[in-house]
Amino acid sequence: MDTVTAGDAEIPALGLGTWQNTGPGCAETVETALELGYRHVDTAQMYDNEAQVGEGIARSNVDRDDVFLTTKLDRGNLRADDARESFEQSLEKLDTDYVDLLLIHWPHPRVPFEETLGVMDDLYQEGNVRQLGVSNFTTDQLREAREIADAPIATDQVLYNPYKDQSNLLDYCQREGVALTAYSPLGRGEAITDGTLAEIGDTYDKSAAQVALRWLVQQENVVAIPKASSRDHLEANLAVFDFELTGAEMERIAGLDGSIRRRLWNRLPGLMRKVPF
Ligand code: NAP
Repeated sequence: MDTVTAGDAEIPALGLGTWQNTGPGCAETVETALELGYRHVDTAQMYDNEAQVGEGIARSNVDRDDVFLTTKLDRGNLRADDARESFEQSLEKLDTDYVDLLLIHWPHPRVPFEETLGVMDDLYQEGNVRQLGVSNFTTDQLREAREIADAPIATDQVLYNPYKDQSNLLDYCQREGVALTAYSPLGRGEAITDGTLAEIGDTYDKSAAQVALRWLVQQENVVAIPKASSRDHLEANLAVFDFELTGAEMERIAGLDGSIRRRLWNRLPGLMRKVPF
């Protein structure tokens, strides 16, 4: 598995997304993924599945220390006391005494970054958090977070797939040695039926989904965290490190727009950042 170096971390370039995978099925997915070779799992307080993610790791035959485990502070838990208390609950649910990466899930327009990052810095010093990160931050917000935090900010986890341009943020991340973690890398499923991706994939005997993931992990500093539930999907998504897209194919994929629905969805993070819910 390729890795991306950021902060003090080596982040496996492909991780398992777990949003909307809850209940016993989630523990099973995590256990299967680890058995197949995944070493990076992404969860969040908001996903209501930290206990099942912890259970999947515990049930697997992979050591906890060999898994890169991410969780995220919920937007309602960004005040200092809430951040610490909710993080302790996350550790309990995950059945571990540290996470590899702790993210601010969404910036809150009414909570100064200093307040949350101060607690995250303490958790980093105490050893319960190995890396700090943010999610859904603009390039300016990422720059500001990096100025405020004492510990390195290893990643900004953002919406990134062939239908979403992130070139400004990616340029910054590549210059500064920050990982860009791509969420919804398959466009929440849209990439799977994309004719252009399928056509490119035919050359390599790969599916459209695999081409979308390859396009991401082939870019410097990019990590992708596709969500998959079935063994077949889990296995397929890992098999993206044995072929290479040409420069022309990379550009063609970057030029894709996606459906109107996808383009509207792509505007959601911008709206969410402004709404103080
Ligand atoms: P996604 O990964 O783009 O797409 C997931 C969909 O693709 C699921 O329906 C999955 O089906 C399907 N799929 C996966 N692999 C496939 C394959 N090889 N062939 C065909 N279909 C396949 O969507 P996402 O869940 O929105 O994003 C991924 C992860 O990013 C999340 O789970 C979460 O961990 C993270 N995320 C973070 C944020 C944030 O604000 N930080 C926001 C959104 C997501 P099955 O489940 O049936 O396999």
